[in-house]
Amino acid sequence: MEDRSTSVAATVGSAVSDFLTRRHKLLIGSDWVDARSGEYLPSLDPATGRTISTFAAASEDDVDAAVAAARAAFDDGPWRRMKPAERAAVIWRIADLIEQHADELAELESRDNGAPYGVCRYGFVPMAVESFRYMAGWVTKLCGDTVSLSLPGDWHAYTLREPIGVVGQIVPWNAPLMMAGMKISHALAAGCAIVFKPAEETSLSALRLGELALEAGLPPGVLNIVTGAGEITGAAIAAHPGVDKIAFTGSTEVGRLIAQAAAGNLKKVTLELGGKSPAIVFPDADLEQAILGTARGIFTNSGQVCVAGSRLYVHKKIFDKLVEGVAEWAEAIQLGAGMEPTSELGPLISAKQLARVKGYVQSGREDGAQVVAGGDVLDRDGYFMRPTVITNARSDMSVMREEIFGPVVCAIPFDDNDLDSIAREANDTLYGLGASIWTRNLSIAHKLAPRLRAGTVWINAHNPLDPALPFGGYKQSGWGREQGLEGLLSYTELKSVAALL
Ligand code: NAP
Ligand code: MG
Repeated sequence: MEDRSTSVAATVGSAVSDFLTRRHKLLIGSDWVDARSGEYLPSLDPATGRTISTFAAASEDDVDAAVAAARAAFDDGPWRRMKPAERAAVIWRIADLIEQHADELAELESRDNGAPYGVCRYGFVPMAVESFRYMAGWVTKLCGDTVSLSLPGDWHAYTLREPIGVVGQIVPWNAPLMMAGMKISHALAAGCAIVFKPAEETSLSALRLGELALEAGLPPGVLNIVTGAGEITGAAIAAHPGVDKIAFTGSTEVGRLIAQAAAGNLKKVTLELGGKSPAIVFPDADLEQAILGTARGIFTNSGQVCVAGSRLYVHKKIFDKLVEGVAEWAEAIQLGAGMEPTSELGPLISAKQLARVKGYVQSGREDGAQVVAGGDVLDRDGYFMRPTVITNARSDMSVMREEIFGPVVCAIPFDDNDLDSIAREANDTLYGLGASIWTRNLSIAHKLAPRLRAGTVWINAHNPLDPALPFGGYKQSGWGREQGLEGLLSYTELKSVAALL
């Protein structure tokens, strides 16, 4: 993998550097336009803190223009009138183009977001490709039902699945291209028109995706991309009366603002929010597999993962061994800039995020918890935090209750075999996004899974996502589901037609 990333960096570097030197505009209709304010924002490399590119800061007026372009494309354009097979072909072409530009996109993502090149090239980029391909497959299969009515008379009744209309989509910075692919592919497959806002910290890969979507033949106005600040650009999308649905991924705090803003025109809302996901390790678990799996479950992407297994419940019989193993893994992993070939874990996204994560570790120390690995930052430029393992944390401490969104895990022993009481502890959180169970006894695993209040439960794994598997949160981790048929249907309206014959 090292050789591959070095040679790739040498060959595609110029495409990426050309892209970075441009001042990126907004995609409205089929045109790339300046923001009306003429303002630009910087995109930083989190491994150095230096500006690598600039992009337009959209204001309310620009969002109005994007919504108008989307509305025109939806109401009058060819997109939702196309034959399903034709629409599927365009979506599939977008996937092909992402794949053809995989090296370039991975480098762009790695420089902008900080994740190791290999993670971008063999993780985030293929996941975006797969989202488009999976959703392209549904386009020709979406259909309604015929319905038998008991009303007097002869009736022919049926349902139609129709696109919901103009959708606003807002995403965070932790897996930018993958998130963009996931969101945009759903809306395109349903026949919607989109106003998309990437995160301020990582707008670049979505802008490149916009260029590729036009190249794939997406009609003008079907995908509009407005970059800018959340409180301005994002808030304008969420509140816009011309938007029929808002799909948001981000923090629970902002999710609440989105739901409030959406109330104005009662637009439909789906929310993929924060988490504080438990990993539960039973004494019969394959120890090596559980150490590796739970370490990756929290530290992948430097813990900037919504389903990160940040509360590690371990049976006391194996607690010391397992925690020691996770701590060793944490100490051994190689931190570095995304494009450094030896790098296995990148920096956090920003100085703000680094300060936030450090603050949580400090508060844990002050509350009496013990840091047994990591706990400090790297002495170099950029926002590097060592993977951190905490023990002796109580359930009332903020390290145990709040989403840190960084490489910090709290390990807690349990000595109970009662599944109800294990589940009660695991469920003792405002969140309910993911959970994992580690055991060789599948009977225990399948008895515990239904007791966990979480949208996804993995058994002997933590984190893997598949476009076919619905994903979303219980409790304050969100509303609705993405991925799978369930995700696609959330971009449709169901119309009933009843004819008296
Ligand atoms: P965030 O602050 O909530 O931001 C997410 C997006 O919302 C960004 O594009 C942001 O814009 C925008 N935004 C901010 N304020 C807004 C407002 N008032 N109105 C409309 N949009 C607004 O989240 P983050 O810190 O970037 O990302 C981390 C969070 O995302 C974590 O809580 C994590 O758990 C969650 N997440 C959830 C999932 C999931 O699928 N459940 C997946 C990944 C991440 P700017 O950043 O550009 O200002
Ligand atoms: Mg950046």
